[in-house]
Amino acid sequence: MAKKWVYLFTEGNATMRNLLGGKGANLAEMTNIGLPVPQGFTITTEACTQYYEDGREINPEIQEQINEYIGKMEEITGKKFGDLENPLLVSVRSGARASMPGMMDTILNLGLNEDVVNVIAEKSGNARWAWDCYRRFIQMYSDVVMEVGKKYFEALIDQMKEKKGVTQDVELNADDLKELANAFKAEYKNKIGADFPDDPKEQLMGAIKAVFRSWDNPRANVYRRDNDIPYSWGTAVNVQSMAFGNMGDDCGTGVAFTRDPATGAKGLFGEFLTNAQGEDVVAGVRTPMHIDEMAEKFPQAFEDFKNVCKTLEDHYRDMQDMEFTVEHGKLYMLQTRNGKRTAQAALKIACDLVDEGMRTPEEAVAMIDPRNLDSLLHPTFDPAALKAATPIAKALGAAPGAACGKIVFTAADAEEWAARGEKVVLVRLETSPEDITGMKASQGILTVRGGMTSHAAVVARGMGACCVSGCGDIIMDEENKKFTLNGKEYHEGDVISFDGSTGCVYDGAIPTVEAKIAGEFGRIMDWADQYRTLKVRTNADTPADAKKARELGAEGIGLCRTEHMFFEADRIEAFREMICSDTVEERKEALDKILPLQQSDFEQLYEAMEGDPVTIRFLDPPLHEFVPTEEADIEKLAKAKNKTVEQIKAICNSLHEFNPMMGHRGCRLAVTYPEIAVMQTTAVIRAAINVKKAHPDWTIKPEIMIPLIGDIKELKYCKKTVVETADAEIAAAGIDLEYEVGTMIEIPRAALTADQIATEAAFFCFGTNDLTQMTFGFSRDDAGKFLGAYYDAKIYENDPFAKLDQVGVGKLMEMAIKLGKPVNPNLHIGICGEHGGDPSSVEFCHKIGLDYVSCSPFRVPIARLAAAQAAINNK
Ligand code: PEP
Ligand code: MG
Repeated sequence: MAKKWVYLFTEGNATMRNLLGGKGANLAEMTNIGLPVPQGFTITTEACTQYYEDGREINPEIQEQINEYIGKMEEITGKKFGDLENPLLVSVRSGARASMPGMMDTILNLGLNEDVVNVIAEKSGNARWAWDCYRRFIQMYSDVVMEVGKKYFEALIDQMKEKKGVTQDVELNADDLKELANAFKAEYKNKIGADFPDDPKEQLMGAIKAVFRSWDNPRANVYRRDNDIPYSWGTAVNVQSMAFGNMGDDCGTGVAFTRDPATGAKGLFGEFLTNAQGEDVVAGVRTPMHIDEMAEKFPQAFEDFKNVCKTLEDHYRDMQDMEFTVEHGKLYMLQTRNGKRTAQAALKIACDLVDEGMRTPEEAVAMIDPRNLDSLLHPTFDPAALKAATPIAKALGAAPGAACGKIVFTAADAEEWAARGEKVVLVRLETSPEDITGMKASQGILTVRGGMTSHAAVVARGMGACCVSGCGDIIMDEENKKFTLNGKEYHEGDVISFDGSTGCVYDGAIPTVEAKIAGEFGRIMDWADQYRTLKVRTNADTPADAKKARELGAEGIGLCRTEHMFFEADRIEAFREMICSDTVEERKEALDKILPLQQSDFEQLYEAMEGDPVTIRFLDPPLHEFVPTEEADIEKLAKAKNKTVEQIKAICNSLHEFNPMMGHRGCRLAVTYPEIAVMQTTAVIRAAINVKKAHPDWTIKPEIMIPLIGDIKELKYCKKTVVETADAEIAAAGIDLEYEVGTMIEIPRAALTADQIATEAAFFCFGTNDLTQMTFGFSRDDAGKFLGAYYDAKIYENDPFAKLDQVGVGKLMEMAIKLGKPVNPNLHIGICGEHGGDPSSVEFCHKIGLDYVSCSPFRVPIARLAAAQAAINNK
């Protein structure tokens, strides 16, 4: 039997999300629970995958099933494609497994041609509506299916409005819209070289193809990469009978949430437009009215809608985001899904659902996207400064956060300015989904038009960016890159601030303050900590980082990169004196200057961690990273070292390498200059002794970590230096102090010979930055140059330096664990590469049995939550 590629809404349900996509599964589920859903069918995600396998063609078998289901749909609705009595008009919408708002394409009013327009105009007695539908359809079809470009049609609308002396689309009458539809068709023929298709079946096949194709458009690819959505999933296509919100003033369309997606507050939250189609609301073309106004305009439909909201929230036990249409006073549901929300709202909703008895704490923990927490951990405006500032405008606080930066007017400029290190805010009349990369590069997005549910708001919320929308006071001149607000003209590069919670906009820069874990955030984190088994440590190089990480819940330091302690101007000099020595004595002299600085830093790290483990990694970078380049610095160094400028320059030159990432770094430094390892061991042990004396109740057991080991003999060699020095220090202090010497596993050979290495190592810590670099054989510093092409070519879906390559690098990790553990049952194992703070990588670490992940301070809560979810999902 042929595979089933198409399902009626009556044939599916909510559990079929993988096959029918989120929208299709929920349309089926709403149909099953008896809600008013215009009927139709869903073409599966598998058909999309097949379309790509067949060279971007819909094969005859799938086409046949689509045609068969058109017949079934005609039977159910009693309407027929192209019929002159009762014509069927449909919407064609994408719907992937995970919702990707605005990333793919939609076509409305499909099935129209001139004959059908005349029929519906006459039958409805509403010619204006009929022609409005037609001109919208031609516009959407040309743009989405034939890729003609919206701008040509928008220009024609503007010409028409000018000719008629009106400013709004709704002021154009039936004749104007008819004229416009004909002008659109002429434009189509002009651009495509063929007539606009009249046959609804041909239109439908073109539209379905276009939706499949839109799975691979650039903005969808960026969105997928950011949201961990695999390319292989594909999108389903939903073909649904149209309900019309644009048939007159007793019609309308809206988008609503059962709770506020920005704050999480319980209560209906949404927007509504009368005499409009869905795209008008979500595209932010007209600023809509508050949902409450619907109560006055359509009392019955509003009552019905409130009941539907309750039914859906009880059914899905989560906040719902719904699209609906009112046609001549009757409500139709077009979509429901678990609504996108800000991190703040996610926490509040999860806690409220527990308090309302709808969810268990475990379910509450599982329903929050850890990546979203990021936005809560970043600074907010200093309340005192905010109070003192007077807003220059107030609009909709669409996605919270504090944005402050230089104004740019295009997404491309935002990217360009951000690439050169500028903090920018993107100010736009309205955004379109194509702007996604520019939005990402900005501190925040401010739009003149659009509401809380416009694409700008939804996308910003999803990416944790700050957004203020619908700032109608702005008099925008995008072309000349300027706008006027509150009587002042603002140009590109001028600084403004805005608050994504209140919607207030301010002139100039407003200072920001650090975020804190409290309230609902604290509650969720407490729950998360009860479920997780993975420990979460932090990568902290300075006492300030360690303190921050501790506040955010770090349970120790998994990586202290000791070289980072020398970045500051007053310390780098001693470090340079050390590296520009040409005898052991000279080097020791410089190391003596460094020793007290390191010791004091280590003491503060132990203090900050209050007895939790602290891993100190010995010097790792290629030394040339620290050599002076400025003439004045070189002269200063020459003086300090009693050498000539030429001699210093010669030493610096000798430090340069062809391939520093694989050069004289890591444990190779301790092999060539054991005196460095002696100094670092002395500093670690003396610091530990002092802190232990001050806090006898704390467990102070230094973990000394040797980087870039590839051979057991390297580890043995370095360890000997460490042990001799440490034991002598401990004996001299007459104190009992245990310590451990372990290693990073960051060279494939270390993973391959982990059974040997584990005989000498007390612990392994996966340095997956280097391990990724050396497994793939490309440099972590240079990969950015070509990864874009790799994404485009679908060779990689993600940056392997951000998201762990479980297939390759992960296999090496598993192998190292399998080889190492039996040899040394006390071996503890962690990860401290960047992947330690990436949720899907954290889940992998949980599965392969690591003891801890270690990540940068701001990612500690993300890792805690991801670790809890990994434990819950893998019970
Ligand atoms: C690593 O390689 O993963 C690591 C943590 O070390 P670094 O990034 O300092 O090389
Ligand atoms: Mg490394």
